[in-house]
Amino acid sequence: MQAKWKSMINHVQDIHEHSTPAFTSCTHPPLEGEARNKEWLEPGSPAATKLESVAAWKALVKDIRQLSPQHQTFSLEAYHSLILHFAPKHTGFSFLGMYSRLLLAALHFNSNGNRDVARTSEGEARYAVHYPRFRKGGWVVRPIKEKPSYGYATNLMVSLVEEYCKSPQALQESSAVLSSAAPPPSPLPSRRFPRMRQSASILHDTHFLTCNKR
Ligand SMILES: [Zn+2]
Repeated sequence: MQAKWKSMINHVQDIHEHSTPAFTSCTHPPLEGEARNKEWLEPGSPAATKLESVAAWKALVKDIRQLSPQHQTFSLEAYHSLILHFAPKHTGFSFLGMYSRLLLAALHFNSNGNRDVARTSEGEARYAVHYPRFRKGGWVVRPIKEKPSYGYATNLMVSLVEEYCKSPQALQESSAVLSSAAPPPSPLPSRRFPRMRQSASILHDTHFLTCNKR
């Protein structure tokens, strides 16, 4: 993030290759024709030096570095909330049900992760204000994405029908194999608790007996 920020100082001087290993070149496509015809800052000019002194100001760069983790975890947070959408916590699912839901969430995420920003009829990008919980009342502006596509679901249904037509038996068998792959449930804390109390009472009794023997 820090390297990306500092590359901006080069970019405005028409320098798009950078010496920092973390960010070696701008991510925009090669600038040609009209895109190259900009009022770039002259390297070494007073304006470029001034901009560098502001943008590379230590305290500011430190803040930019702080932005990094939040930016990087955004996609992971979006994936987690998508999983909750497919497999809500308030409902219990069988192993096969949960497994299928997780696969569906991954399919949906992969086919919709790089959606373009939605645009108005005038072609302007659309944005919305959000109040994420971690901001504790603060707001962030996020681009509104285009509507998600469900093409993966159609493909799934088509292959399901195809497999069923080939052999309903084979489909049932593979479903049974998947179900039997369910790991044994881990013991619930409520089941472990009485055992602990029981062993504690044994310990207490033993202690009582040994103490009284003396
Ligand atoms: Zn650039």
